[in-house]
Amino acid sequence: MFIADAHCDTLYAIAIEGTKPADCVVTPARLKQGGVGLQTYALFCGKHGPAPAGHPRADALAMLKAVEQAGVPILTGDLPDAPPEVPTGVFSCEGGEMFEGSLARLEEFQQRLRLRMIALTWNFENEIGHPAAEGPDGGLKPFGFELLRAMDREGILPDVSHLNEAGFWDVCERAALPPIASHSDCRWLCDVPRNLRKEQVRAIVERGGFIGVNFYSDFLREDAHATLDDVVRHVDALMEMGAEKVVGFGSDFDGIEHWPEGLAHPGEFPNALDALRRRGYSEDTLRDLAGLNLWRVLKRAEAARG
Ligand SMILES: [Zn+2]
Repeated sequence: MFIADAHCDTLYAIAIEGTKPADCVVTPARLKQGGVGLQTYALFCGKHGPAPAGHPRADALAMLKAVEQAGVPILTGDLPDAPPEVPTGVFSCEGGEMFEGSLARLEEFQQRLRLRMIALTWNFENEIGHPAAEGPDGGLKPFGFELLRAMDREGILPDVSHLNEAGFWDVCERAALPPIASHSDCRWLCDVPRNLRKEQVRAIVERGGFIGVNFYSDFLREDAHATLDDVVRHVDALMEMGAEKVVGFGSDFDGIEHWPEGLAHPGEFPNALDALRRRGYSEDTLRDLAGLNLWRVLKRAEAARG
């Protein structure tokens, strides 16, 4: 079964935190062990907060150098017709600071990287908008709207994980491509600002976007003692909202400190699928959830490139 993961922070771990590639959670061997065909590697540039304090562009370039160490080939051209059978990477951006408020910077990165999705903010306000971590108010800024238009032209999906609610609704109103939440869970099951409200899930489902269930225990349960049953619980809740063609995985591996037992690394993805199988999901539904839902929305974005 093709498995795809919409988010990991492995490049940041190697390039910025100095983690040895073999000590990362996401390794080529574990991706292979778990049967992961597509791994999204985030260029995580939000940590420093607004300029001029940080060096997000330099960090992004350092993360690119870490790609070879991460050991998985990254697709910077068109996706193949069929989902890859061996671990293959694609790039995303987490925190739009690396563009420094300039569309020329976006184009520069895009020519080299073929970004598939951009999480518009991380946990700080930036040139694009405001994060969920700082409250629901304050929508996208003028550069945020400009960036959305450019992303539509380039076929880059707007990733609303980390974005606040006002920004979320701006994306829904203005982006032609569907919104995705690469690594967020259900807020009505675990009330943290990084999770999605029912209205947001409904809007993503209506637009044919994508929601990657995050394995971070703190987002799965308020007491952070999550088990595989909690992953199933969040999937169930999304399915109840009509998300069969929208739900998938956004592990957040190498970016989280707690995870459910039995889901500590990519080699354990099959445990999550077994738990969902025991819950009674059909093989067709599991195939969609495991990878095809993410694959289809990536293909849709690619087809929309101008
Ligand atoms: Zn994140």
